[in-house]
Amino acid sequence: MAVQQLYDLQQLDTAIIRTAALRASLDDGAAQRSGIAAAAQELADLRGRLAAWGARLRVLDLELRSVEAKRAKFQADLYSGRTGNPKELAAMQEEIDILGRVKAGIEDETLSVMEQIERTEPQAHRAEAALEASQAALAQQEAAFIAATAAADGEVADLTARRSALAAQIDEFLLKRYERLREHKGGLAVVAVTGGICEGCHVAIPERRLQVIAGDPDALAACDGCGRLLVVRVP
Ligand SMILES: [Zn+2]
Repeated sequence: MAVQQLYDLQQLDTAIIRTAALRASLDDGAAQRSGIAAAAQELADLRGRLAAWGARLRVLDLELRSVEAKRAKFQADLYSGRTGNPKELAAMQEEIDILGRVKAGIEDETLSVMEQIERTEPQAHRAEAALEASQAALAQQEAAFIAATAAADGEVADLTARRSALAAQIDEFLLKRYERLREHKGGLAVVAVTGGICEGCHVAIPERRLQVIAGDPDALAACDGCGRLLVVRVP
C-alpha cells in the first residue's frame, strides 16, 4: 500500500514541523529578563536617591551643629556683661537672629529630606521584593524552557528517525513525487478522504471515483480540487 506509506510519511512530516514550530515558540524568558533589567534599574535609582539624601542629611547635621555653636557663642557673649555698648549689643543680637534664621532653614530642609526618605524607603522595599519575585519566576521559566526544549528536541529526533526508516521503504520515484507535491502544496502532499470530502481542500469526491480508489490500494489518485494524493478510508 504505497499511498498508505506516503500518508504515514506525511503524518510524520507534519508532526515534525508542528513540533519544531512549538519548540521555536517556547518562551525562553527574554521578555521577563528585560522586565527584570528595568526593575533592577528602577531599584538602583531609588537606592541612589536614598543614598544622596542620606549624605545630604549628614551635611545638614554638620551645618546645624556649626550654626548652633556660633549662635551659642554670641548668646554667651551677649549675656556675659562684657559690654554695655547698645550698638555692640544690638549687633550681637542681629547676629543671633541671622543665625537663628539659618538654623531654621537647615531644620526645614532636614525635615523635608527626611520626609522624602520616609516616602521613598517603602517604595524601595516594594521594588526589591518585586524584583526578587520576578527573578524567582524567571528561574522557573528558564527551567521550564530547558525541559520543554529538551522534550521537543527528543520528539523531533524520534519522529525524524521514524521518518527515515519509513522513507527507506518507499520507492525513490514516489518519494520524489511526494516531496515535490509537498513543496507546492504548503507541506501537505497526501490527505485522507473523510466522509467523501478531501481533507486538503474540502471538495467532495464523487462516489464512483471513491469506489475506484478504494478498490485499488496501490493506485495513486489525486484530488481534482487540490491535486494532492488521496487516501480513502474504508469504514
Ligand atoms: Zn483536495
